[in-house]
Amino acid sequence: MRGFKDNIPPVSRGIDYVQRVFQLCSDKFGCDMVDLPIVEDADLYFRTSGDASDVCNKELFEVRRWKGDFEGWALRPEGTASCMRAIKEANFMQSARAARFAYFGPMFRYNRPQKGRYRQFLQAGWEFIGQKGAASDCEIILGAVEFLRTFGFDFTLEINSIGSAQDRRLYRAELAKMLSLDEGADPLKVLDKAENFDNIPKMKLNPEDAADFEKLRYLLAKSGLEARGVKVVHNPYLVRGLDYYNSTVFELKAVETGQTVLAGGRYDGLMEQIGGDFVPAVGFAAGVDRIVDHMGFVYDNKKVALIALDSHDYALKLAAKIRSEYDFGCVVYWNLDLAKALRECDKQGYEWVVICGQNEANSGQFLVKNLRTQNQEIRKFDLPFSL
Ligand code: ATP
Ligand code: MG
Repeated sequence: MRGFKDNIPPVSRGIDYVQRVFQLCSDKFGCDMVDLPIVEDADLYFRTSGDASDVCNKELFEVRRWKGDFEGWALRPEGTASCMRAIKEANFMQSARAARFAYFGPMFRYNRPQKGRYRQFLQAGWEFIGQKGAASDCEIILGAVEFLRTFGFDFTLEINSIGSAQDRRLYRAELAKMLSLDEGADPLKVLDKAENFDNIPKMKLNPEDAADFEKLRYLLAKSGLEARGVKVVHNPYLVRGLDYYNSTVFELKAVETGQTVLAGGRYDGLMEQIGGDFVPAVGFAAGVDRIVDHMGFVYDNKKVALIALDSHDYALKLAAKIRSEYDFGCVVYWNLDLAKALRECDKQGYEWVVICGQNEANSGQFLVKNLRTQNQEIRKFDLPFSL
């Protein structure tokens, strides 16, 4: 099926690694992991992303029982709307002034498949709910950078403010006059896809958003990001394809490909759009498939292979010992001839193999061999195992 892919090793290994890093990072920032349905009322997305968004207009998958009636369900194209719906239905903000949610899971958009763009893809996201202002925007941006820094590729931080609904109304009118657009086209969405910005005016911000954005730039400058190799760029044409954003928006773009790997922004109006009370919030979603595409190393979960020639009872005990004392996994190759087993382990990329047979069982020892250096040494079963 076009746009759908099987994630198997090595890609699935990369995904697994991204998920682990994401969970650690989420813990550090006090986010609670949530698990929400992948099916929602389609109406949720029409109310939040907007009828004119690509997500609703062209990309929404409808869900119905086989030959059943349309019940208005859709596969989720993004995670933010569900988080806010869940918070609203649980009356979560009545007992909490602020909440931080993290999610990791598949999203679905019927778009034209190409490199880094799939119809089912994985997003890892944060939603910081209940706080407003440049400092909280800066905190989540720094968190996003911390998360992405682990994966060994360079990226740039682009920031902008898209102001208030009124600012955007005026800006849309100004842009519509300049760009010759198809009827009904949203000039901001045209800007999102544009490549040439010559002669395109910049948005004028209301004083409050302008001051807030200046403060964000100040905080980012003070944060030491640039010293750590992350260039911060104000891109005055950065907008979001979904309707619910306001004020701060940001993206982390891979330097090598120019692709956006992580995107986010503030969405203070979303809760009211779904019929709740005003709750300010800021969040991001990272494209996990794109992170894996850009990873600067092959994630190696450093398994060790145990080649069990015979004396299977001894080999089982040795495997259990390795698993309990060593941080990584142990795979056993049973009954292979030694030369064949070594060739197989080399092909599989193992750096270390442990070898045992009847002699080792008799003497309570085993052999550890490094396949890169070919060095080997005899170890005693009774001593702690490490590599
Ligand atoms: P794009 O950057 O491709 O225009 P978008 O602006 O529609 O995507 P967002 O809704 O902001 O994307 O989603 C956040 C992130 O999720 C993107 O930056 C990207 O990394 C990832 N993502 C979005 N759509 C896809 C897709 N179809 N396939 C893979 N990853 C995706
Ligand atoms: Mg985009």
